[in-house]
Amino acid sequence: MDYQKVIDRIHGELLELWGQGKVADYIPALAKVNPRQFGIALITLDGQEFLSGDAGVCFSVQSISKVFTLAMVTRHIGDGIWKAVGREPSGNPFNSLVQLEHEQGFPRNPFINAGALVVTDRLISLYPHPKDAILEFVRGLCGNDDIYYDKEIARSELDHADRNMALAYFMKSFGNIENDVDILLDVYCHQCAISMSCEDLARAFLFLCNRGTNPLNGEQVLTVSQAKRLGALMLTCGFYDESGDFAFRAGLPGKSGVGGGIAAYIPGNLSVTVWSPELNRHGNSLIGMEALERLTTDIGNSIF
Ligand code: GLU
Repeated sequence: MDYQKVIDRIHGELLELWGQGKVADYIPALAKVNPRQFGIALITLDGQEFLSGDAGVCFSVQSISKVFTLAMVTRHIGDGIWKAVGREPSGNPFNSLVQLEHEQGFPRNPFINAGALVVTDRLISLYPHPKDAILEFVRGLCGNDDIYYDKEIARSELDHADRNMALAYFMKSFGNIENDVDILLDVYCHQCAISMSCEDLARAFLFLCNRGTNPLNGEQVLTVSQAKRLGALMLTCGFYDESGDFAFRAGLPGKSGVGGGIAAYIPGNLSVTVWSPELNRHGNSLIGMEALERLTTDIGNSIF
């Protein structure tokens, strides 16, 4: 399979979709990003790398970080996390408060904001220096010590975190948040502001592609069963209220972020990350979704 040819062709074809989406602007620092960028990085488990467009440009991973924090917490408390957060698709926007009231502060899944806040809260309880621990974990996954928080984006998100604060306080009132909400929001806004390229992210997701073991250094990050579960959650919940549509179109476990990135993989085969900042109305990269649909169609491979 000539992956380079496939991704270069997709890159060329997608340029006609510029302008159909909109960059996230509820975090002011994100609104400053040049919308007309597109990158794709595809890395096979046997170590071949294929890059196209802006695959080396760093961007804000936003909600893709929720996979990293869930993996970190799962390593420590395993199934214990499911006492605090569910694992069903929400069918609601990423920052919805409505469902939480019905479900008494127990978020539907770890990838909507409420669920991710609970996961980060438990991470804070587990690690004395959570922000350092997150960076160290992510650097280890992708083998790049040059991964940092984008301080401007973290600050901007913290300054506009009213909705996430509301979610956290609401869950605390039900006893589902253990730590101080200000500390929780500081760590959460930093994890969302991790700055990585498509190439870094495609490497960082290789451990999931490889049943929990990082092929870059042989480290077992998660057990086979934990990796299976994380992948299943990405497939069913990774794209908010568009998760079903992404599974239908691309047929891959994946996770999106409002920075315009999408990390996805074919188990036992390859990891692929796309990035394009213009979002559709569900908060997922418009061109990124299209690129992954075309990729799995063109290569005739997905998880199905
Ligand atoms: N930092 C974003 C927020 O909490 C994450 C949302 C996303 O990437 O979907 O609003």
